[in-house]
Amino acid sequence: MASTYSMPTETRIVPSATELLINNRWIASESGETFATINPSTGEEICRVAAAHELDVDKAVQAARNAFERGPWRKMHASERGKLLYRLADLIEGHADELAQLEALDNGKPVSVAKRVDVAKTVACYRYFAGWADKVQGKTIPIDGDFFCYTRHEPIGVVGQIIPWNYPMLMQAWKLAPALATGNTVVMKPAEQTPLSALRIGELVVDAGFPEGVVNLVPGFGPIAGAAIARHMDIDKVAFTGSTEIGRLILEAAARSNLKRVTLELGGKSPNIIFEDTDLDEAVEGAHLGLFSNQGQICCAGSRVFVEEKIYDQFVEKSVTRASKRIVGDPFDPQTEQGPQIDQAQVDRVMGYIESGQNEGATLACGGKRVGNLGYFVEPTVFADVHDNMKIAREEIFGPVMSVIPFKDLAEVVTRANKTNYGLAAGVWTRDIRKAHAIANNVRAGTVWVNCYNILDTRAPFGGFKQSGTGRELGEYGLQQYTEIKTVIVKL
Ligand code: NAD
Repeated sequence: MASTYSMPTETRIVPSATELLINNRWIASESGETFATINPSTGEEICRVAAAHELDVDKAVQAARNAFERGPWRKMHASERGKLLYRLADLIEGHADELAQLEALDNGKPVSVAKRVDVAKTVACYRYFAGWADKVQGKTIPIDGDFFCYTRHEPIGVVGQIIPWNYPMLMQAWKLAPALATGNTVVMKPAEQTPLSALRIGELVVDAGFPEGVVNLVPGFGPIAGAAIARHMDIDKVAFTGSTEIGRLILEAAARSNLKRVTLELGGKSPNIIFEDTDLDEAVEGAHLGLFSNQGQICCAGSRVFVEEKIYDQFVEKSVTRASKRIVGDPFDPQTEQGPQIDQAQVDRVMGYIESGQNEGATLACGGKRVGNLGYFVEPTVFADVHDNMKIAREEIFGPVMSVIPFKDLAEVVTRANKTNYGLAAGVWTRDIRKAHAIANNVRAGTVWVNCYNILDTRAPFGGFKQSGTGRELGEYGLQQYTEIKTVIVKL
């Protein structure tokens, strides 16, 4: 297994935006406070970033409110909003290398993946929603009586958006693009671990020509800046992606303040179900990427790999071979498949789960240790002989730890797959179309992948059943979360 290298100096890019963006101006926080953002490959500080507090959030909300009610944004044609989004997409594409490097530096994901996945999908997301800007329309409704009835899909207003660190740029796009396409204004808090790409995109938002106050960025800590957004009386909606635990706090704060609309994309413990009739090598690779991609830090990671008994031993053996070959190391090395975890807290959490798996009697088939003594690298880890009641099979690990669990038949695996509070995603691998549909119809999850995994597209809705969230992002469905429906009835 490759170990960690120090970062080649030529790939050290200097972040240009490190302050708050309010009214298209870069400003320090009121308190003057800053926080360090850390390079997870080395544990060293990259730079310091302004830390927003409640007063700063207030300022940003005021800017967003002004822009929503009075500025040119209010009167702008929908097609013009679309043009601005297309321009932003072009600018991001034009800075693809720089943005991929920034993401690799601040988040630790391999730079090749950041460019191929994060930047490419970010551009696609802004373009997709740019196209929608002038296609959001209501209906005319034939009500009883001499009346003309129609609906208007109006922007909700000032939207607060709180995003996580695992896909900093892409999660920003998933939130900003539909909100702007539908005419809202935004106050966004990036994750404190990874503020840099979101702020750089803020510069591109200004360059693209968005009017002042439309996009405001308030980097800072969750319990301070994030909580100030969630309970703000003048924010009309909050969109959150992160843990189920914090999602609960967001909903509570919305209920206690102004009943702002809430959409939540939360955690998962997704089943990936492998039947014995599948192409084994394809399923092994699919399950491997379904779990280990992005250092295992994916909300829809296939972290419960259910394998039919007849092929269980063979599957474990092949999965161990594959995981042992996974190249872990410097995100700036083009060969690297897996970079560091995001921070020390995540490493501790992941190592705690590995220990608990061993203590509860699962077989540690490979991995289980940290890599090197610099940064936050963890070996790709596979556990065999995992039972449903073990902690590693129940709780979200959010790291490179795969649990392989045997099952007997279809009915049994459906019941066991559903025995979780989560419901974000699921996968099934089989050549039998009836089994595939049985899983697709009966597993309670927002997305089901058949003979594939982690296929996310800006045109297809994404979100969770049960405690994995509420509402959907992406696609036409995602637009509905950013508009209010107004009914107009005219006497004829
Ligand atoms: P987190 O919930 O700790 O943080 C997410 C965001 O919320 C960050 O910006 C953080 O600063 C902020 N926050 C923290 N405390 C807050 C508070 N009291 N009030 C308001 N905001 C607060 O989650 P994380 O550790 O950053 O991310 C990992 C989690 O996110 C995992 O559970 C993962 O499954 C989930 N996730 C879900 C999706 C999805 O689409 N469903 C996508 C990515 C990540």
